[in-house]
Amino acid sequence: MASQELIRKLEETIENVPDFPIPGIQFKDISPIFLNPKLYEAVIEDLVAFSKGKVDAVCGIESRGYLFGIAIAVALEVPFILIRKKGKLPPTTVSEKYDLEYGSAEIETREGQIKKGQRILIHDDLLATGGTTEAAAKLVEKQGAKVAQFSFLIGLTDLKGDKKLKKFDAEIYHILNY
Ligand code: AMP
Repeated sequence: MASQELIRKLEETIENVPDFPIPGIQFKDISPIFLNPKLYEAVIEDLVAFSKGKVDAVCGIESRGYLFGIAIAVALEVPFILIRKKGKLPPTTVSEKYDLEYGSAEIETREGQIKKGQRILIHDDLLATGGTTEAAAKLVEKQGAKVAQFSFLIGLTDLKGDKKLKKFDAEIYHILNY
């Protein structure tokens, strides 16, 4: 959906940082996008076009999922819900545990912010293994809503995150694939 021009500009702008935060990881730094308001606007337009008329609320994953997620929700005129790491939101919350390479993590939302039957867009900056996004989708569905779409700026295709999300029967979109 994104124009070749937008893809080219993003490829030029997103910085690849080898061996950060640990050896072997190619870290994609999206922060240079925020130095260019026109580019930021073009990204939002593209992500909004993907979701227009298809969702009733947007859930953003802490923390980089908020940077674009809120702007998407405002443009779509739908609610935005924060998915946070455990312990950051006041009670009462609904949470979901998931496995990491070492140990486990937990994410949560405030109870009652996601409504039964809503069609939800889950947004994050980047899809890697899909572990975090899969947990976010489970968190949404256990509250009686339906994950209708996933969107990301970047998908790391080698890590096969898309595969983990197949079971939700939702549309998946990433502007860039690496
Ligand atoms: P995952 O659960 O493996 O899909 O990891 C997704 C989360 O980790 C996203 O919120 C990303 O912001 C972050 N992340 C994972 N890998 C990278 C990477 N190579 N560069 C930047 N962020 C990453």
